[in-house]
Amino acid sequence: MSKESNHFEISKQKDYLYVIKENISLVHPVYTNDPLNIYLLLGTHTALLLDTGCGLFPIKPIVDELIGKRKLLVFNTHYHWDHPLGNVEFGEVYIHENEVEFISKPYDVSYFKDSPNEIVKVYEEQNFLIPPAEIINPLKDGDVFDLGEIGVEVIHCPGHSPGSICLLTSTGELFTSDVAYYGDQFLPKRKKIPQVLDTLLKLIKLCKNQKIMELFPSHRQSPCDLTLLSDLYEGIANIENIWDTKKPFEFFHSWQIEDPSGKFRYYVSKI
Ligand SMILES: [Zn+2]
Repeated sequence: MSKESNHFEISKQKDYLYVIKENISLVHPVYTNDPLNIYLLLGTHTALLLDTGCGLFPIKPIVDELIGKRKLLVFNTHYHWDHPLGNVEFGEVYIHENEVEFISKPYDVSYFKDSPNEIVKVYEEQNFLIPPAEIINPLKDGDVFDLGEIGVEVIHCPGHSPGSICLLTSTGELFTSDVAYYGDQFLPKRKKIPQVLDTLLKLIKLCKNQKIMELFPSHRQSPCDLTLLSDLYEGIANIENIWDTKKPFEFFHSWQIEDPSGKFRYYVSKI
């Protein structure tokens, strides 16, 4: 890993919440969902880091400085490459039980071999196989963690990936991971789209019941309000009506569909 500073942009969103932003388009210009938002929640005795990023530059020194003497928990929202590649810096991480095996072995990023961007040399030096964390612990829906004055509940949200999770806090935040954000959406096969819609409905209901007003997505603008969930639900529900406008997009092995509102672009997996 190279030692360049100012790769990450750090900002304090609340007394107990930092966001560490990383631009994933640096790895390949095909990714337009900058920035990746890595969150750090600070309880009184324990901190929680939500994702470890692209693994290009060390993130642990930044985290260590921000958490002081607190114990640290490290979660991955899901296994896609831009979220767990810094795991090796931390001894122990958590991910939903459906995705433990995906991050337990060296992570193959050989699809970046042809990237026009210089930075992929960091991956090349590791033969495009990024080592995993030593210990990987499974998470389940409903698991609860006490950070000290902040409680965190794991919500299983399958669709974007089989083990995507969102986090609900006792202080009123919902971290929506890649389940909901404005920008390019990576969706499973067409026949699995109903599962994505079910997950979004579940989150809409949860936010209404818990009176959650602030959503913290893993990409692009943050925070967002509840309209993000309804905009995305309506957009994805409309895909069937505009299915004929799809174009093949081979880098992602997907069909690309433009949302008429301009708020989203969909990549529906072919495989
Ligand atoms: Zn992502």
